[in-house]
Amino acid sequence: MKEADFNEWLAGLPALTSAQKQRLAAALTGADPATTVANELDALGVSHCPHCAAGSPVRFGHASGLQRYKCHACRRTFNALTGTPLARLRHRDAWRVFAQALIDGESVRRSAASAGVHRNTAFRWRHRFLAAPSDMQAKRLAGIAEADETFIRRSYKGSRSLERPPRQRGGGAKKSRKGRDPDDEVGVLVMRDREGHTLSHALETVDHRTIDDTVGHRLEREAVLCTDGASVYQRYAQYRGVTHEPVNLAQGIRVRRPAFHVQNVNAYHSRWKGWMERFHGVATRYLDHYLGWHRMLDAVGDSATPHNVLAAARGHAYQHSTMT
Ligand SMILES: [Zn+2]
Repeated sequence: MKEADFNEWLAGLPALTSAQKQRLAAALTGADPATTVANELDALGVSHCPHCAAGSPVRFGHASGLQRYKCHACRRTFNALTGTPLARLRHRDAWRVFAQALIDGESVRRSAASAGVHRNTAFRWRHRFLAAPSDMQAKRLAGIAEADETFIRRSYKGSRSLERPPRQRGGGAKKSRKGRDPDDEVGVLVMRDREGHTLSHALETVDHRTIDDTVGHRLEREAVLCTDGASVYQRYAQYRGVTHEPVNLAQGIRVRRPAFHVQNVNAYHSRWKGWMERFHGVATRYLDHYLGWHRMLDAVGDSATPHNVLAAARGHAYQHSTMT
């Protein structure tokens, strides 16, 4: 290439997307992308048999590019992906680029183009990659914790019409708090302590038992719970046995200490809602996947790498000591 052409090509590099930079880096190093992914997955290790949960599996050759293991108890073989949401997904060479597209929050269409796969594949991959992170929550919340819910429009996007429940009309009195109709909107609970440990979950019903059953049981009994003072949180705090500090200034509730506020949880809701705008509405049944995806990105921050995403997709907590 002529020097002038090369300079022009080089000057165009800042316009590349992160996923395109991944592809360029792979091309420059000459590393086979499928091998890179296989090596990363193998490096995560396998501590027990996915079939019978026995420990100490032994290495047993290689198969389809991955280390194979054999279980001494049930004698079955497996690899790093057996029994994980990534098992039997094809085109492993595109997984790092796809993982970068998840970090960048790309649309299905765009991530499909980046990874060079059909958009139905990209859609399937998205939800396979997010299955494990959607179950990863902070192990426990301690100290001062905040809780609040927000509502988003219910969506049956991508569902067959039969899956949509019949709408209840004329029954009246079916308003949730904040005047929402639960037929039209679904609640999103966020709980967060001052260390940044975060719980978030979609709620079909915003009541104290549902809050406790989904993620609320992870709040330590010694914690102080700050909320806007809604009765649902008073009941939940009582049920859980934690101190409740209502901080709704609009209702004239006095704040006992400046540290008692709900600014962190409100800021988190804003970040999540802002990030969600790019998707132009998501199917309600996938809401927990989008919550898990955002928890991961929010926790790992700007340093997120395709390796983080692959490890999390395989079920490894991205913040090891504080998550399950
Ligand atoms: Zn076994």
